[in-house]
Amino acid sequence: AKRTGGASHALFEERMVAGSRDQVELLQDLRRAVAHNELTLHYQPKIHAPSGQITGAEALMRWKHPQRGMVGPHIFIPLAERYGLINSLGNFLIEEVCRQIRAWRDNGLRMRVAINLSVHQLRQADLVERILDALERHHIDPALLTCEITESAAMDDTRVTLQVIERLSAIGVHLSIDDFGTGYSSLSYLRQLAAEELKIDRSFVFDLETSADARAIVDAVVKLAQALGLKVVAEGVETEQQQEILRQLGCNELQGYLFAKPMPPEALMLWAMNDEG
Ligand code: C2E
Ligand code: CA
Ligand code: CA
Ligand code: CA
Repeated sequence: AKRTGGASHALFEERMVAGSRDQVELLQDLRRAVAHNELTLHYQPKIHAPSGQITGAEALMRWKHPQRGMVGPHIFIPLAERYGLINSLGNFLIEEVCRQIRAWRDNGLRMRVAINLSVHQLRQADLVERILDALERHHIDPALLTCEITESAAMDDTRVTLQVIERLSAIGVHLSIDDFGTGYSSLSYLRQLAAEELKIDRSFVFDLETSADARAIVDAVVKLAQALGLKVVAEGVETEQQQEILRQLGCNELQGYLFAKPMPPEALMLWAMNDEG
């Protein structure tokens, strides 16, 4: 069950599944949302496991719906993908993240940011040009940007996807394989992708305290990653005990409610500056 959002959120989700009329209405609203600045980004810190210091942040999209309140991405991203709106959302994401990295830097904060790209976006031939253009316009070092691609999206072996992944790393953007452990990628394939990072899926972290199997899987993933020269990030860290186990297993970075929930950019800036001081 989802812990975020509470009862109203769950109710809303139920209605979404139940009513196609609601879906149609929401889709119309989403089309307007893009044009009316109702989309916004929250940022969740990524933490260096040994020192506890912030290493960067993941951008997570939110929709401030005028009537329904905050709508989570698990509702509107699938809708956008199905009805051809995902590239508009992606364009907003790229532009807004670059603007924000620049704004933070103008305020004295150098922040690395990770964005999520879905498989639909990776099939967009001009994605790399869009990212490059935004980085250049805002004078941002490409190394400050990480693209998180789910393991299953990375396995999408259409030519366009592979080329986009290759060109992203060629322009100096970092690559991260998200939700790792939920797909079926082969070791040899992982080596071919020029990724820097694996993010262990939340489901394994959730089971760490109670399941020896989950611990064994995380242990194996960390060893695999080390052998391939990849960094390992664990997401969804909620308890001290999970943190302790992940540190012992040698995870490089941690992310989760234990440290901070996703927050607006102003709050992240304060959080990061407190962390440094
Ligand atoms: P994800 O990339 O796996 O992001 C992690 C999700 O886990 C986020 O949910 C985050 O808020 C949540 N989370 C972080 N720490 C914890 C924790 O300790 N416990 C629990 N239970 N959850 C935690 P969110 O923000 O609802 O995003 C859901 C998914 O929507 C993301 O999963 C990502 O796949 C997608 N998404 C979000 N923003 C974007 C976007 O801008 N573009 C695309 N294409 N997809 C996005
Ligand atoms: Ca992610
Ligand atoms: Ca993930
Ligand atoms: Ca996920």
